[in-house]
Amino acid sequence: MIARCFAWRRVSPISLSYTHPVHPRPRGACSSRVEPIVFGPVYSRRLGWSLGVNLVPFKTCTWNCVYCYLGYAQPVVERRRWIEERVVVEKVLEKVRSVHTDYVTLVGIGEPTLASNIGRVVELLKSEVGVRVAVLSNGSLFNRGVAFEVSEADYIKATITSVDEDKWRVLHNPAAPLNAEEFVEGLWLASRAAKSFHLEVMLVDGVNDSPEDAARLGSVIRELGVTSVAVNTPFRPGWARWVNPPAPERVLRFASILERVSGHRVEVLTGRGLRPPRIDPSKPGESLAEIVSTHILSWSEAVEALREAGVENPEDTLRELVETGVVKARRVGSETYLYRED
Ligand code: SF4
Repeated sequence: MIARCFAWRRVSPISLSYTHPVHPRPRGACSSRVEPIVFGPVYSRRLGWSLGVNLVPFKTCTWNCVYCYLGYAQPVVERRRWIEERVVVEKVLEKVRSVHTDYVTLVGIGEPTLASNIGRVVELLKSEVGVRVAVLSNGSLFNRGVAFEVSEADYIKATITSVDEDKWRVLHNPAAPLNAEEFVEGLWLASRAAKSFHLEVMLVDGVNDSPEDAARLGSVIRELGVTSVAVNTPFRPGWARWVNPPAPERVLRFASILERVSGHRVEVLTGRGLRPPRIDPSKPGESLAEIVSTHILSWSEAVEALREAGVENPEDTLRELVETGVVKARRVGSETYLYRED
């Protein structure tokens, strides 16, 4: 599962149906080599400094999501041991001796649970390296024993888009034996087996972003034992050119309904986990309005950004921008988000 942040772009409108144009040059995973095995560390608000570990070759995945920026590739379900687990441990040990590491994250450029030795890798990283381990997965193999293989990880995250079989297939183009019902069963197992289980909901304009979609998904999430739920949208062009992120108002409405129905606090990912956006100190209000025309910002992120730009009363500046209609504000749970619709 690839990591993403929140932003949007719009491509020229193409009428959307539940079929999609096939890439002119379908291809499978381009190499059986796994490189790099260890990368980073990179900082994220949730995990702190995280060292990435890649266990599978480029775009080796059980799905072929329409929003995947790694390109088009035939999905697979056969699991393999591409890298010997001792090699992973040695590479990680070498790195953690020289850089501060809060987490080692099994993520990479494909689906990490396709590595048949992922359970052993988690075990060795914990017992021999002594680090906290995160697994970022699409969750598609959790019902096939994987939920228990990785249950020793400290943090497990899976992606969900829809519980509707047709929509799920359109968005993920899964390998032949996979289906939405078993996928949800796998999430249920993982949510019971994991120490902490996190869900990221990926929204695509016009496919899975309606209030009805939110209510249906919320009623399923309510039954899972999740630690956190976040809503995200594609931020880079995927291989399917018709894919667009939904408009901000639609994302926030979806998140509100999801929060109400699921009974979980829902965070809207803004992609600003690293640093607050840079505001032009000579025109802070205008500069902030420009930023929120392409990125949703939470109120607290906006306050921090204005403060960094030297604005003395950032809350007053924000209130004025909202009251004059320059930017819009919407509350989702305990957080207020700022956005603009041109
Ligand atoms: S196809 Fe989907 S699950 Fe697989 S790597 Fe791409 S975005 Fe992640």
